[in-house]
Amino acid sequence: METRKLVIVGAGPIGLEAALRATQEGYDVTVLERGSVGAAVRSWGHVKLFTPFSMNSTSAGRLAAHAELDPGDILSGAEFADGYLNPLAECAALKGRVLENHEVQAVSRLTYGKPDRIGSPNRSAARFRILANTPVGQLNFEADILLDCTGFVSLHRHMGAGGIPCPGEHLLADQDYRIPNTAATNRFANRRTLVIGGGYSAATTICALGQLCDPAPNTKIIWVTRGQRVEPMPGVSDDPLSERVRLTNAANTLATSDNNCVDWIPGAFVDRLTRTVEGYVVALLYPDATGEGRVLQLLVDEIVANVGYRPDTRPFEELQIHRCYATEGPIKLAAHLLGETSGDCLQQSSGGAALLKNPEPNFYILGAASYGRDARFLLQTGLKQVSELFDSLETGATV
Ligand SMILES: Cc1cc2nc3c(=O)[nH]c(=O)nc-3n(C[C@H](O)[C@H](O)[C@H](O)COP(=O)(O)OP(=O)(O)OC[C@H]3O[C@@H](n4cnc5c(N)ncnc54)[C@H](O)[C@@H]3O)c2cc1C
Repeated sequence: METRKLVIVGAGPIGLEAALRATQEGYDVTVLERGSVGAAVRSWGHVKLFTPFSMNSTSAGRLAAHAELDPGDILSGAEFADGYLNPLAECAALKGRVLENHEVQAVSRLTYGKPDRIGSPNRSAARFRILANTPVGQLNFEADILLDCTGFVSLHRHMGAGGIPCPGEHLLADQDYRIPNTAATNRFANRRTLVIGGGYSAATTICALGQLCDPAPNTKIIWVTRGQRVEPMPGVSDDPLSERVRLTNAANTLATSDNNCVDWIPGAFVDRLTRTVEGYVVALLYPDATGEGRVLQLLVDEIVANVGYRPDTRPFEELQIHRCYATEGPIKLAAHLLGETSGDCLQQSSGGAALLKNPEPNFYILGAASYGRDARFLLQTGLKQVSELFDSLETGATV
């Protein structure tokens, strides 16, 4: 009897749930995580999730982790990682299987290159070969089945026209693209901050900065969004997620009410920025019918560019993966998602395990990485992917 080797890249919520299920199915499981368990979730640890704990976990996971959290709890990222992800990684089934500080650099097949045996199931005759940077140097790992659970916050997008960098954008640091922890810094109080972006991350930043305006009345926020709308956040009709409703309403009120705190500028994008001793000089461009556009010049102290993320596809580029030209997600799932008309992530139907298949046999992209640039991913979708995938696979024990 031989046990099939299954390697998971990424110890986020979906990688860990997949690992737990894989051990239950009899696979020999290893999880390679480039940072620490839940590293991506911890990077926004001060932010509250808008889905309750019951939607972000499975009953098997809660049992294995001995989680003492209430299913209805609305947790911060740090609370979710401390109270669930870390105990899950340490549970009896996964103990010693989650290797932290193991960053996957590249993946191939042992004896086949990318152009060999195109789309053929025979490629699975050669195991996956996985190169990782580890605390003891570079190591190879091998696998019969490989799951990409690397999420999507590794790479941010840019704030220039259409998502490319604008001139001067290289002046920003990586942290300027994240939701700032305003409780842990005095970067923003009594200063002028430009916030760019029209999603929930930008709304979270606006609400956090808005709370500074009362105790620190010289705090000024300029919020730039691309679309021409009545309110910056469109919201979801009859939204059952109360935390998301609260966030949407609070950000819209700050943007549209008469106050000295937030100025909302819709329909513009950043054309260029420069750094002077007084701060950043930012040129905003409003495209008009002539194509010339109008320019507004701003002077700000800080910039927060919550302009979204994209998956890091580089470690997997030697495999045969058919990706969507728009979202960079795997094509079958992306095509299914493009057919979904609702903008509400809660309304999405699952396409089943068939959509998770790639031309590369035994390679699956799960979790936020599977949605590519499509921001509608929810943890409950990823948990369903895990369950549907393992329902469709043979068990790990082979003769
Ligand atoms: C601010 C924010 C709030 C969110 N709130 C919610 C919410 O309320 N509800 C909800 O359902 N969803 C929410 N999401 C969306 C989504 O559920 C989360 O992004 C979630 O963390 C995705 O889980 P994941 O396991 O797919 O990926 P991640 O949590 O991103 O985990 C991926 C892991 O892979 C590791 N990794 C990446 N590259 C490599 C590599 N080359 N080698 C080894 N390891 C690697 C990373 O370090 C990370 O630990 C939110 C997202 C953000 C950004």
